[in-house]
Amino acid sequence: MINQTKLLIGTVGLALLVGCGDKEATVTALTENAGSEPAVAAEASRPMAEVSQARLDNAAEQPEQWLTYGGSYDETRHSTLTKVNRDTLPELGIGWVYDMKKPRGVEATPIVVDGVMYVTGSWSVVYALDARTGEEIWVYDPEVSGEDAAKGCCDVVNRGLAVYEGKVFVGVFDGRLEALDAKTGDVIWSNVTVDQSKPYTITGAPRVIKDKVIIGNGGAELGVRGYVTAYDTDTGDLVWRFYTVPNPNKEPDGAISDEIFAKLANETWGDTGAWTTDGGGGTVWDAIVYDHVNDQVLLGVGNGSPWNAAIRDPEGNGDNLFLSSILAVDADTGAYKWHYQTTPRDMWDYTATQPMLLADLPLGVDGAPRRVVMQAPKNGFFYVLDAASGELLSADAFTDMTWATGIDENGRPIEVPGARSLDEDFVVLPGPTGAHNWHPMSYNPDTGLVYIPTNVWPLVYSHPDPDDPIKSNWNIGYREDAGWPLEIPAGGIEGLREMGGGSLLAWDPVKGEARWAVPFPVPFNGGTLSTSSGLIFQANKAGELVAYDAETGERVWAHGLVGGPGAAPMTYEVDGEQYVTILSGWGSTIAMVYGVVFEEAVAAETGRVITFKIGGDGVLPKPLENGIARTPKSDPIGNEALHTEGLKLFAGNCQWCHGAFAISSGVLPDLRWSAMTSSDAAWDTVVRDGALSARGMVGVGDRLTKEETDAIRAYVVKQAWDAVARGEATAPAAPSVSAN
Ligand code: CA
Repeated sequence: MINQTKLLIGTVGLALLVGCGDKEATVTALTENAGSEPAVAAEASRPMAEVSQARLDNAAEQPEQWLTYGGSYDETRHSTLTKVNRDTLPELGIGWVYDMKKPRGVEATPIVVDGVMYVTGSWSVVYALDARTGEEIWVYDPEVSGEDAAKGCCDVVNRGLAVYEGKVFVGVFDGRLEALDAKTGDVIWSNVTVDQSKPYTITGAPRVIKDKVIIGNGGAELGVRGYVTAYDTDTGDLVWRFYTVPNPNKEPDGAISDEIFAKLANETWGDTGAWTTDGGGGTVWDAIVYDHVNDQVLLGVGNGSPWNAAIRDPEGNGDNLFLSSILAVDADTGAYKWHYQTTPRDMWDYTATQPMLLADLPLGVDGAPRRVVMQAPKNGFFYVLDAASGELLSADAFTDMTWATGIDENGRPIEVPGARSLDEDFVVLPGPTGAHNWHPMSYNPDTGLVYIPTNVWPLVYSHPDPDDPIKSNWNIGYREDAGWPLEIPAGGIEGLREMGGGSLLAWDPVKGEARWAVPFPVPFNGGTLSTSSGLIFQANKAGELVAYDAETGERVWAHGLVGGPGAAPMTYEVDGEQYVTILSGWGSTIAMVYGVVFEEAVAAETGRVITFKIGGDGVLPKPLENGIARTPKSDPIGNEALHTEGLKLFAGNCQWCHGAFAISSGVLPDLRWSAMTSSDAAWDTVVRDGALSARGMVGVGDRLTKEETDAIRAYVVKQAWDAVARGEATAPAAPSVSAN
C-alpha cells in the first residue's frame, strides 16, 4: 500500500488560500432566552455552575455530573453510571436534540453541572441548556470574524469549556479567553491572550486549577511561538506564563520558563533559521491536564514551525526543546518540573498535544500501583510515564509506521534515516493527521484498557526545490505539491479512499499491546467514553453512535445521527435518569481537506447536541440535501503546463479549506461548480480582491500574481471537466443555435 501511496497522495502543501470561513448560513440573529421560560432558569435563586475546588478534586465521585473537559482531573472519561447497560441499551433512544446557531465542525465535550449543560459549538459560541430537555437557557456568541477564521488550520472548531464558582470559561478562536456569568452568559472579563497580528488561534478547552484558568493556543502551521498562560479566575490577571520554545534571541522573556531555557532548552536550538523569524511552533492547543496527586500541570506540546527541521534550524542538530514533548510544570507557579520529548527535533508535525490521561497501573515494585500518565501522540507510539518523575516506563507502537522502528534504551525513537534526510521523497506514516489526534481516548479501570480512536493517512514529504521557491500560505517548509498528481490516479477515487482508515483500538498499557480493534474505512472517527457497565461509546464518520463491549469490542448497539460526528460522547444523570450526549455537525480537518474520502458531499449541517436516554422516542431532523448542480461553469482553460502550475498553487494555497483535488465534502463550496469560475472577472473579484472576506475568503491579490490565480482557476475548471469524464458530473447543455 505504501508504494502506491506515494503515487496517490501527498498533501504537503496543505495550505489555505482562504480562512475556511463562510458565515453564509449564520445570518440568523442569536436570541438570548428565546422561547418559554426554561425550568432551570426559573429557579432564580438557584446558583449555577457552583463548582468549588473540592468538587473538582472529587469529580469522579459525582458521576451524575460531568464537571471538567475529561470528566475528572485525571481525564479518563470513565463514568461509573450504570443505568445504561447491556439490558437497557435496546431502549436507548433520542431524548432531545438542540440545534446550535451555526454550522461547521463541532468537537466539544459538554460540561454538566446540577442539571445544566454548558457546551461550545463552532465559531466559539457558548450554549447553556437544560440538561433534561435541551431547552435553551442562554447563548453567547463572541462574534469571531470571517477574517479571523483565515488564521486557522483546521476549521473554526472549539473543544470545550471550564466552569468554576459561577463562571464559565471559553477560549475564543481569535485568541481571547473569556469568563462568562454562568447564569446569564454575560461577559465578566475578556482577555486577549495572543498577538492578534499573528496567526494564533484557540480551539482547546481551558482548565481550571485552584483559582487559575489555564489556556494555550494553536497556529504552528502558519508560524507562531507556543506558550501556556494561567490567569486569575476572578480578575483575569496573568499569574504565570510558560513558553515552550525559546525566543529568537534566546533572551529571557521575564516568564517562569526563563530558567529552564537558560539551563537546558536554548542550547538545543541553533542561532539561525526559520524558527528565529517564524516562532518555532510548540503550541499547546489541546492537552492541559492537572495531576492533583503531584500538584502539577501536564502540557502536551505541539510540532515545530516550520515542520522541516532542516529549514527551521539549519545549522543546529539539537532536539529543539520543548517541541513534541510532555511537559510537567508546577500548578501554582508554572515552574518547570520535568519533560519527556516524544519526537526530538520534530520533522513531521508529530505533536504531543494529544489527550493525556492519568491512572494507577500495576507497574510499581512487585506489581504495586504506580501513578502514570499515558499518551498516544501523533507519532504512533503509546507512552506510559511515571507521573511524579516523567520516567519513561514503556513506549510501544500502536499503529503501522514508516518513520521509526522502535524506541531505544535512552527513550529516543530509532528513526528510519530516509524519513529525515528526504534524499528522496519519503512516504511518512503516520502522516500529519497523526495515528491519533485530538479525539479523546478513555480508560476503563475494570478492563485495564485504553480505548483509542486511531487514524491511518500517510503523506509524501520532500524538500523544497531550491530553484522553485515555495509559494504557500502555510509555513511548513516542504514542497507543496509533493506527491500530488495532476490526474486522479489509476484506481480512481475508490483507490484514494482505500489509502485512509482508522480503528477503535483497545490497548493494554501494561503489556504494551492491542487487545482488540474495530477497523473503519475513514480516519478521524470520534472520541470515546467508557462506563462501568462495560460499554465503550463512540461516534463514527458513517454517522452513527455505537456502543461496544469493553472486553471484546463486540458491537452491541448503534443509533444513526445526522451530520458528521467527531466529538467524544459523555454521560450524566439528572433526577435519576441517565443521559448520553454526542455532538454532531459537519466540518473539521478531515471533512475540509479530504472531501475525496467521503462517498458524497453533504450540505453543511448545523452543529447539534444529540442526547439519548432510556425510553427516548425523539426523532432526528432530516439531513440537508446537497442540491448543488454538478456542472462546470466554464469551458476548459489552458494546457497541461498551466494545469500543473495551478495544481501546485492550489495545493499550496487552497486545498486545506476547499479540498484536495478541488473536491469538497460540502463544508465549504466545491469550487468546481462555483459560478466564480465562469469568468476571469468573477474569479478575480473573489480570489484576488477578497469580495467575500467577511465570510473568511480573504483575497490573495497581495501575494499571488494574476497569472498565478488564473492558473488556479484553470486547474479547478480542469477538475470539473475531469469529473464529467468520470461520469460524476454533467456537462452544461450546449447553447441552442438560435441563442446566438
Ligand atoms: Ca500541527
